[in-house]
Amino acid sequence: FELERLGVHDSVEAVFPPSELADFLADLPATVDVVGDDEIAACDAVVTLEHREAFLECDWVHSIQAGVDRFPFDEFEANDVVLTNSTGIHDRTVGETVAGYLLSFSRRLHDLLANQRERRWERPAWDDGFTLPGKTACVVGTGTLGRGVAETLGGLGLEVWGVRRSDEPVPGFDEIYTNDWLLEAVGDADFVIVTVPLTDETHHLFDAEAFDAMRADAYFVNVARGPVVDEPALIDALESDAIAGAALDVFEEEPLPEDSPLWAMDEVIVTPHCAAYTRDYFRDVGEIVRENVSRLETGEELYNRVV
Ligand code: NDP
Repeated sequence: FELERLGVHDSVEAVFPPSELADFLADLPATVDVVGDDEIAACDAVVTLEHREAFLECDWVHSIQAGVDRFPFDEFEANDVVLTNSTGIHDRTVGETVAGYLLSFSRRLHDLLANQRERRWERPAWDDGFTLPGKTACVVGTGTLGRGVAETLGGLGLEVWGVRRSDEPVPGFDEIYTNDWLLEAVGDADFVIVTVPLTDETHHLFDAEAFDAMRADAYFVNVARGPVVDEPALIDALESDAIAGAALDVFEEEPLPEDSPLWAMDEVIVTPHCAAYTRDYFRDVGEIVRENVSRLETGEELYNRVV
């Protein structure tokens, strides 16, 4: 297809100012501008956060997220719309966010910050704090996110295991387990970190059985997608002290409802789906779009093509 107009859909505003990306791509051999819902029809391609029905009239849709579970693949296919995603850019951001969660738990920073807000001078109990070297992290999903987490945690001295569908080794992981060994792998780890895409196969991968398998002193981290976890089962595990705590960036319902018990739990860190946020986000996405525009010109298969 001919690319004459590329729209930056204004839904990306939740992650970065759309005009930053439009300016970054201003030198492309196409008109690039910020578009609202009523201008989608006039675009050949759009870069977007959210899905819109009107995208089915375009030739190409690029998701600024790696997770594309919200897009209706069948309808894209039926309407000959190409879908590409932004996997490949969130290794370091998410890796450092996860390192931050683990350091909060080990050095008690979340507790101390809560105390500070109440002007309370209160040290942790003598046996609350610990250090990370020699602890084990089981990372479920060994793609961009999993590798970034493995590299960052490896640098902090943790031993890192990966769980994936095949048993091929992955750089940065000390051990690889296949999915059939999920319960054994999570059962031996100090930290269990979820980095898989949401698919039919991973929906509620973490259920009551998985939390039962975890150690009572282990922490759970979800930076993947909310529905990978059976949230009521997680809440039960936390309330019954079957696990030590959790750091959660994603939830079954977002924003996390105000009445969720997760907000008020001492050993739970809640972040608003921002593990990958960085001031460079628009540049990282822009590089993928630029690469694909040049592939369109040469007729090569698009990078990160999903549909
Ligand atoms: P990738 O495609 O790079 O990696 C996904 C990995 O998951 C693959 O290595 C795959 O390995 C593994 N996998 C897929 N299905 C299964 C399964 N059933 N069981 C075990 N492993 C599986 O994606 P990214 O790492 O870039 O992103 C992963 C997900 O993280 C995204 O889909 C998105 O939902 C979420 N995400 C969240 C962010 C946030 O802000 N919190 C930011 C970015 C992404 P193999 O093929 O070997 O099984």
